[in-house]
Amino acid sequence: MSQPFEKAAILGLGLIGSSISHAIRAYGGAKTISGHARSVETLRVATELGLADSFHASAAEAVKGADLIILCAPVGACGALAEAIRDTVAPGAIITDVGSVKGAIVRDVGPHVPKHAHFIPGHPIAGTEQSGPRSGFPELFQNRWCILTPVEGTLPEPVAALEAFWRGFGSNVEIMTAEHHDLVLAMTSHLPHLIAYNSVATAADLEEVTQSEVIKFSAGGFRDLTRIASSDPTMWRDVFLNNREAVLEMLGRFTEELAVLQRAIRWGDGETLFNLFTRAREIRRGIIAAGQDTAAPNFGRTPERKP
Ligand code: NAP
Repeated sequence: MSQPFEKAAILGLGLIGSSISHAIRAYGGAKTISGHARSVETLRVATELGLADSFHASAAEAVKGADLIILCAPVGACGALAEAIRDTVAPGAIITDVGSVKGAIVRDVGPHVPKHAHFIPGHPIAGTEQSGPRSGFPELFQNRWCILTPVEGTLPEPVAALEAFWRGFGSNVEIMTAEHHDLVLAMTSHLPHLIAYNSVATAADLEEVTQSEVIKFSAGGFRDLTRIASSDPTMWRDVFLNNREAVLEMLGRFTEELAVLQRAIRWGDGETLFNLFTRAREIRRGIIAAGQDTAAPNFGRTPERKP
């Protein structure tokens, strides 16, 4: 097992924080782990699950002596966390995060990073709709991308060490700017979540379709949207508040495309519909060819048979 770090401090022990803890235990990456969570309940569950070697109600205490500090809280909470730890960050430590938005992390965390530390924002493109300390598992990052967005002037050695840390979990690593990350993720992740939340809300509001019919016939595409729309509300509120420009840009493009579809349906323009659906299907095939999803029908779900 490779151990690029002596002590990793995980601040926030929800889905991502607990998965990092499990992954370190399973694949290496740090010799010891210290953990911090906001609530007494999360600290209690994390202790019960053994997610760290030491647990701290204070984030400042948790980072003492750590050479890797990972902020695993919602994006909107990371600035205050960084401020809370600034006086106890060890010289040479790497401060990173896992937030789904990167520009806001640079803006909010950057000013609190001491000169003697390295600041390398990060984002593992891996997750589920679950949250909390019990939802983590060690394989979450396997064969998934982790994007690092080091700020200008960051030395190559700490970036290489953090890259090795993520590769140890089976992740692929890509380096890009925070701005580029936010634009790409607005399209690939943030917009789809917005569409899912909105579709589910629209269905729930329909007067002529009763709630029970929405549930009864949800085996269609709607069921997959409800899965996405059950993601953590705090996390997603923070994503949209903190990636406003990029999401609005992508939403504008999406609305234009939607108007094209609406027009084609109104005028019976089957060719436009067919061409757009064909292009969309190619994208799905590309995702499967890149190993980012299964080719099995219905995402590999086996039909449940009642006895
Ligand atoms: P989660 O399961 O809801 O866990 C969030 C953790 O942050 C909890 O331990 C929570 O503590 C703690 N926390 C919340 N507010 C805090 C505050 N003000 N100060 C200190 N700690 C606070 O969320 P998650 O899914 O792990 O998401 C964590 C980060 O990962 C987010 O930035 C998210 O954007 C990013 N991310 C998520 C996914 C995904 O699919 N879920 C994927 C990639 C990246 P309590 O339990 O005590 O409230």
